Amino acid sequence: MEIKYDENGLVPAIIQDAKTKTVLMLGYMNEEAYLKTNTTKRVTFYSRSKQRLWTKGEESGNFLNLVAIKNDCDNDSLLVTVNPVGPTCHTGTDNCWGEDNKQTFGFLTELEQTIADRKANQDNDDSYVASLFRKGINKIAQKVGEEAVEVVIEAKDDNDDLFLNESADLLFHYLILMKAKGFGLNDIEQVLLDRKK
Ligand code: AMP
Ligand code: ZN
Ligand code: ZN
Ligand code: ZN
Repeated sequence: MEIKYDENGLVPAIIQDAKTKTVLMLGYMNEEAYLKTNTTKRVTFYSRSKQRLWTKGEESGNFLNLVAIKNDCDNDSLLVTVNPVGPTCHTGTDNCWGEDNKQTFGFLTELEQTIADRKANQDNDDSYVASLFRKGINKIAQKVGEEAVEVVIEAKDDNDDLFLNESADLLFHYLILMKAKGFGLNDIEQVLLDRKK
């Protein structure tokens, strides 16, 4: 469907990191900016303050390399997915709302942060995770081994509930082991990405 530009010939363009899904910035495109973005594969806006086409990164080198452009449900806004080169905001932050742009894994990232907090506060008597950190890496690794065996046992059965619960136990203890070694899911993801053919 055809894009509906407003009375000034502009359409808002929401810029999103294609990989992390973080919203990076908001800009406006006129038809010329839209066409230029598509042909050069670098996001170009119409700057209302400069009153001219503005290729993001033209001075800083922090270009937004185009992945795809989608119209919204009623064709009056654009979702532009990109691979950003460097920080997107001219203030130096990753996005224009002062946020970091990192790969996240939803609730697992929240859980990793909780585990990191327990590692930093190991004297917390009420915490099972803190008690594991106190016992040390050998004990944590042993727990991972036990939970892995339990997953293997449940995989042979056909009780889905037990299989899922043991899988959750394994993943949970595995995240603790990773944190004990100073790593997280991002590090594993990087290894897997490096292996990708
Ligand atoms: P750049 O396009 O990154 O070379 O930056 C050139 C100029 O555009 C900067 O000095 C700012 O005035 C402006 N600018 C850059 N990035 C942004 C942004 N994310 N939001 C608003 N203005 C920006
Ligand atoms: Zn709309
Ligand atoms: Zn900004
Ligand atoms: Zn278990």
